[in-house]
Amino acid sequence: MNIILMGPPGAGKGTQADRLVSQYGLTQISTGDLFRKALSEQTKYGVIAKYFIQFGHLVPDDYTIAMVRDHLKENTFDNGFILDGFPRTIIQARELESISREFKFKIDAIINLDIPLEKLVSRLSGRRTCQSCGATFHVEFNPPKVEGVCDKCGGELYQRPDESEEAVKVRLDTYNKQTRPLIDYYTMQGTIINVNGDQPMEDVFKDIEKCLEDK
Ligand code: ADP
Ligand code: AMP
Repeated sequence: MNIILMGPPGAGKGTQADRLVSQYGLTQISTGDLFRKALSEQTKYGVIAKYFIQFGHLVPDDYTIAMVRDHLKENTFDNGFILDGFPRTIIQARELESISREFKFKIDAIINLDIPLEKLVSRLSGRRTCQSCGATFHVEFNPPKVEGVCDKCGGELYQRPDESEEAVKVRLDTYNKQTRPLIDYYTMQGTIINVNGDQPMEDVFKDIEKCLEDK
């Protein structure tokens, strides 16, 4: 099963993707994680992405699409994948349709985590990410067992540099202008399923599982 997980920054895409990975053996493809890895390894995509990410802007479509295309081409996904953070623009969505025809896969579900934007600032400012494995925690809503240490791999937790107040404002504004129109695009196609992201993590997951049962 191949799934697109949509929602504004901080909606819980990564958190729910982690659970889908554990429960169903799917592979998470997070474009944010791919860019951060590219950045730390200073590959071509990392060098390009650096300034866009730092200031909360989207990386231009052509680079993002090329990176996703490379990733899909170079990897196998036996049990299927979860696209987390891609597509984020209508151009990316259209390109994904063409890539799926070319690589012969199907998107089985598009799930949108719905949450009021005013809830996102506290989610983002409290988020802590593992330096080594990318797992996410929250200082209040999902604290690690030992402060600053990843429960999963023992790696060091850090606060993402694009989580400064200024960058968060830009990211939410970018979401409204460039990504929200995608919801209408998929709604017109009749393919999107809205899930209430403003409830405890376990309940969000149960709702996602219910949607997937019908697929
Ligand atoms: P996204 O991948 O959509 O940007 P994350 O999954 O990283 O979002 O979640 C953002 C922050 O909010 C993290 O710190 C996470 O632990 C926390 N979080 C995720 N889902 C919930 C929830 N349902 N309730 C409270 N906090 C949540
Ligand atoms: P995320 O980890 O999903 O919050 O993404 C972090 C940053 O990576 C975003 O603010 C963008 O700068 C960049 N990014 C991630 N996914 C995309 C995408 N699909 N299109 C353009 N930029 C992206």
